[in-house]
Amino acid sequence: MNEYAKQVLELRRKQAPWETEFLQSVEELFESIGDVIESDPRIKQYRILERLTIPERIVTFQVPWVDRNGEIQVNTGWRVQFNGALGPYKGGLRCHPSVTLSTLKFLGFEQTFKNALTTLPMGGGKGGSDFDPKGKTELEVMNFCNSFMRELYRHIGAQVDVPAGDLGVGAREIGFFFGAYRRLANNYSGVLTGKGVGWGGSLVRAEATGFGAIYFVQHMLEELKDTIAGKRIIISGFGNVAWGTALKASRLGARVIAISGPDGYILDEAGINEEKAAYMLELRASGRDIVSPYADKFPGSKFVAGRRVWEVPADIAMPCAIQNELNGDDAELLAKNNVRMVAEVSNMGCTPEAIAAFRKHGIIFAPGKAVNAGGVATSCLEMSQNAGHCNWGAEEVDARLHSIMTGIHATCVKYGRKESGEIDYVAGANIAGFIRVANAMIAQGL
Ligand code: GLU
Repeated sequence: MNEYAKQVLELRRKQAPWETEFLQSVEELFESIGDVIESDPRIKQYRILERLTIPERIVTFQVPWVDRNGEIQVNTGWRVQFNGALGPYKGGLRCHPSVTLSTLKFLGFEQTFKNALTTLPMGGGKGGSDFDPKGKTELEVMNFCNSFMRELYRHIGAQVDVPAGDLGVGAREIGFFFGAYRRLANNYSGVLTGKGVGWGGSLVRAEATGFGAIYFVQHMLEELKDTIAGKRIIISGFGNVAWGTALKASRLGARVIAISGPDGYILDEAGINEEKAAYMLELRASGRDIVSPYADKFPGSKFVAGRRVWEVPADIAMPCAIQNELNGDDAELLAKNNVRMVAEVSNMGCTPEAIAAFRKHGIIFAPGKAVNAGGVATSCLEMSQNAGHCNWGAEEVDARLHSIMTGIHATCVKYGRKESGEIDYVAGANIAGFIRVANAMIAQGL
């Protein structure tokens, strides 16, 4: 790692050693940008690394709400407005018991470079709460959303900060957040994305992260003079992102043979088609957080209790659940099973040990900030439609999404191609995103 980068990482480590996820994401980026720092003295002169590793603003607030028994519950809410050099802060809200400020700082940091890669005018931000939507009644979720927005509404706006969904925040929660916002602010604008189609949402937004990930994989395969048809894919997660991925993969003739949930995984050699993918969504919406009923519904498939999907032999692995879900041992297992490619769809889904193992075994790996950028890119398309008071057809949105993913892949190739001809997608994504943000920061002064 470059000396200046090392110093700044050390500084952040001393300041908050407990922010392990945030430090992991900073280290990963810093590992990639040594040559850029050395070739451009302005990076150090303008103290870009110090400034990039402190969010421009963090809002922390209490979220008191009333449960079904009339008892008062209290959660913590956060919005991390990480970097606004390229546009209004943009990024999702995550509601999950595992959420801490470190989680949201890592997600906001990643988001900044992901959004830069899309080339669209978006800064990076992230927010959320340690609220657990699992097992809550609809009224409890609404009470929580109303209380959360009662504080957040004064910090966001279509030109200021535009939150969206993430883990635990889907269409229903965005509806409640938006309803609360417009009543409090007396303002109907594109202040949130992922809205319902019919009241400001964009067609294809729900599918976009998964569709974009598969478009990216198609380009990765094209580099190898190969195609996606017939490829066997394994996926972790069974939420919105996994659904979109399975849907697009099956439409293009690939076979998603395994998906997983917290209770184990489903093995379905026939592949997950549209009907089965739709059932995945139903399972998710049931709020029970299990995949086992899939095997009862679709004969020929099998539920493997308590085990992880990475043990299934396949061509391509796509983690679609949560950070650090695929570790070094899992990566060794993938290598043993001759998996050729890992396209990370979750944010920082693979640990540094896993990425090192991919390198060692020649498994081609593309990071989440490139692969999953189709979600936030389509959020920006939603913002464009809101600002222009119009709705685009599904084909138009999908075509734009496709061309954005093609652009991101080309950028990764441009900055990540090694002398050997191989593509280092991690370096490509990090370098390209960093240069764009750093240049904007330098141009905008202090
Ligand atoms: N939460 C998604 C992400 O990680 C989407 C963010 C958005 O649409 O603003 O990129």
